[in-house]
Amino acid sequence: MEVSVIEKKLAQKDIPITPMRMIVLDALMKSSQAISLSEFEELLQQSDRSTIYRTLKTFEKKGLIHSIQENNTTQYLMCHDDCDESQHHDYHLHFYCTECKKTTCLEEVRFENIHFPEDYLIKELKFVANGICKDCQK
Ligand SMILES: [Zn+2]
Ligand SMILES: [Zn+2]
Ligand SMILES: [Zn+2]
Repeated sequence: MEVSVIEKKLAQKDIPITPMRMIVLDALMKSSQAISLSEFEELLQQSDRSTIYRTLKTFEKKGLIHSIQENNTTQYLMCHDDCDESQHHDYHLHFYCTECKKTTCLEEVRFENIHFPEDYLIKELKFVANGICKDCQK
């Protein structure tokens, strides 16, 4: 990924540019699948876990990435919608492939205008489908 592209992404979300943020965002933008904290650690050998974690939390807060829970691990994906600091809009299905164990965003399948009974406070919504991805079906 070009440096200028990454810098622009960070600037758009008012995130000050640091070398660490550049590296983490580069990895996320290159990846079509969700990346967990442990995978980041493997990917960025010279960086420590807490710094990577803080970077991811900043990105998530600023509406640059969203996270999902899969098998008790948190994984991170780029936001493609107009997410910002006030709200995320990633109301789409996530697809977990049982063959290659990769999780991807299925933005074609959206969940919008869902109305919940007023007396329920929803803190988290999970839309995950399990199956076999198109690459693994070949
Ligand atoms: Zn988002
Ligand atoms: Zn697969
Ligand atoms: Zn997603």
